[in-house]
Amino acid sequence: MTSKDKKSQPNDSNIIESRVSQKIRDISPYSVPHFNCKVRLDGNESPFSLTKEVQEKVDRAIKEIDINRYPDPEAKRLIEIISRVCDFPKEGILLGNGSDELIGMLITTFSNGTGRVLCPTPTFSMYRLAGLAMGADIVETALDENFDIDLDETISMIENNDPDLIFLASPNNPTGNMYSADKIAEIISVAKGIVVVDEAYSDFSGYTFLPLVKECENLVILKTLSKVGFAGLRIGKLFARDNLVNEINKVRYPYNINSLSQVVAEVVLENHEFVTENIQLIIRERDRIYKALSSLEQIKAYPSDANFIFFRVDDADSIFSKLVEKDILIRNFNRPGILSNSMRVTIGTPEENDAFLSALGEIFSS
Ligand code: PMP
Repeated sequence: MTSKDKKSQPNDSNIIESRVSQKIRDISPYSVPHFNCKVRLDGNESPFSLTKEVQEKVDRAIKEIDINRYPDPEAKRLIEIISRVCDFPKEGILLGNGSDELIGMLITTFSNGTGRVLCPTPTFSMYRLAGLAMGADIVETALDENFDIDLDETISMIENNDPDLIFLASPNNPTGNMYSADKIAEIISVAKGIVVVDEAYSDFSGYTFLPLVKECENLVILKTLSKVGFAGLRIGKLFARDNLVNEINKVRYPYNINSLSQVVAEVVLENHEFVTENIQLIIRERDRIYKALSSLEQIKAYPSDANFIFFRVDDADSIFSKLVEKDILIRNFNRPGILSNSMRVTIGTPEENDAFLSALGEIFSS
């Protein structure tokens, strides 16, 4: 580029200021701190991969893929299997590249009324991030001291703001608890906009609002394959009435679920007994780890309905670094306010969980 060309280029900061909204300029990108630890209990993933038998079926199915062709744009076969497994009509199901993408699609579709998105906090950060990216205003209500919804405060916020969308993660991330079903039901009945119950962790709680979709025209349920063994596939599932799905489908990018993910998910869901067994093992391990953490006087652990446990310590930053030194990675949420000195540990294999517990024991006794 000559110096003459360079002069004709707009100044970098001008183009950002004139062409990028303040809301986007203010966003901190979603980032997960990366540490190369042997024991990774930070991402709420499953520690279990495929069984040998299912892996062989996956290998055979992958060989059949025409990689030179676009995937089925509607992922019809996969949706049919999900419809059968979840006992939900296929017309009411939409898939996303992870439920992250579905959250974005929901905001694109519905945040053009009042432009407001409501969520109780602390919660999963993508509701805020995706909302801001679409230019929405984020209305936050604080969870109560048990991390449940503060119903009076939330209802009054709904009445005053009439949000287009309300995101309720139940079980919630990072706190791990389900919200009271009665409170969720009340919010669904009061809200004039869409209520999204994000059930990313419901396989570990055994509770779902899915049957209520038939009765509630404003209810959307999100689920994901990420927490039960298939985070790498990026398959999020949305369930709602057909008329809502038809609208959301208009903002979906074509071919959003790639051929490999479609085929692998089909095989996995057709052979899901091992997934169910792994979920049961995680639940048993979660209850064991919760008891062990609760017995430590240096920790306040909170009961969990998910595949992770939220807890507080006196000095989360120091515990985090000492665990990393011992090759164990968990999530440190320490920041001023309600998350002060809080941490989250994902349930791993029994061996990984033992390594975490004994590392904590050593840290506290040193
Ligand atoms: N919802 C909640 C509550 C989550 O915690 C997460 C993952 N951290 C997601 C949705 C996103 O899941 P996915 O991998 O399907 O995008």
